[in-house]
Amino acid sequence: MASSRTGSATWKRVRKVVIARAIRDGLDKCPLCGTLLDLHGTGDGAPIDVDHLIPYSLGGQDHPDACRVTCRSCNRSRGNGTRTRRGAVQAVRAEPRTIIEW
Ligand SMILES: [Zn+2]
Repeated sequence: MASSRTGSATWKRVRKVVIARAIRDGLDKCPLCGTLLDLHGTGDGAPIDVDHLIPYSLGGQDHPDACRVTCRSCNRSRGNGTRTRRGAVQAVRAEPRTIIEW
């Protein structure tokens, strides 16, 4: 935990921007599973996470354009460095019909 990347100031800023953009764009569902997201922290919907389109371990960057909002369970189940190249490409286009490989 000593070198927690997600605790960095940069990541916190990125996370905030990504969530703000999602709200601005009217995103209300997880792009992966379609679950309603709790973007406003009201408890009405699934807890959210900000996810790298390309896993950090594969060269993904801490930049708002390289990240997206998903529900927490999708982000957790995806983990780091899993087989998500196709998902990453689709997410860039932000289309809700993302195909998930379970
Ligand atoms: Zn999800």
